[in-house]
Amino acid sequence: MAAKPIVPPAQVFACALIAALAVGGCATAPPAVTLPPRSSPTVAPGVSTHRVLPGETAWSLSRRYGVSVSHLLRANRLADPRQLPAGTVLVIPRPTAAPVRAPLYPNPQWTHIVIHHSATRVDNAARINRAHRQRGFTNGLGYHFVIDNGSAGRRDGQLEIGHRWRRQMDGAHCNAGGMNHHGIGICLIGNFTNRQPSEAQLATLAGLVNTLRAYYRIPLSRIVRHQDVPGKETACPGDRFPWAAFRARLTAPE
Ligand SMILES: [Zn+2]
Repeated sequence: MAAKPIVPPAQVFACALIAALAVGGCATAPPAVTLPPRSSPTVAPGVSTHRVLPGETAWSLSRRYGVSVSHLLRANRLADPRQLPAGTVLVIPRPTAAPVRAPLYPNPQWTHIVIHHSATRVDNAARINRAHRQRGFTNGLGYHFVIDNGSAGRRDGQLEIGHRWRRQMDGAHCNAGGMNHHGIGICLIGNFTNRQPSEAQLATLAGLVNTLRAYYRIPLSRIVRHQDVPGKETACPGDRFPWAAFRARLTAPE
């Protein structure tokens, strides 16, 4: 953990609540028309395709699959939403997560986001705060954000905002690579060496990361797992964390 004087909380409180995408069960419904792999564009795992039918538009497809029109166009390298002749095979990206509301403070120190798991089954921010103080972290809870799993009196997918975030303090979550200073630390409750995070947790995480990276202009390459930080010998956040699928839910870089 790194020691650094407390920075007074910024006065500006901004909420980056962008209009949520309308998702009407599209995320789970299989596409009506799928093509065999041979005739499909190169498709990443978890991404489907769709052959445009007469009358379908970029807008109607964005509503159907729960992705924004701009995301749909970018995924297919299309510039004009009107150029969608019937028969066109489109890549349908995974739905992008709606931004999650969180306090944001102007602060150039945040250049990375580091994702962790708690490696415990039952936990919440207050419990981890106590545990970190017992371990000698004088400022308590080392993460900036905690995303709960429905245990210890919290809702599944609930976002807890740590006091280090509200006071814009360094974290105490990854001392390698200067990440306690530059990295926003997010911890999901659970042990993902033997099970996956819940869908509610992943939705909150993707939405929070989308909010943070939009505000702090953090590129995708700087959103990392704890295990990705050079010099860190850890499996955190566990091999069952669906990293590729999670990244697919992030908004495309500008
Ligand atoms: Zn970790």
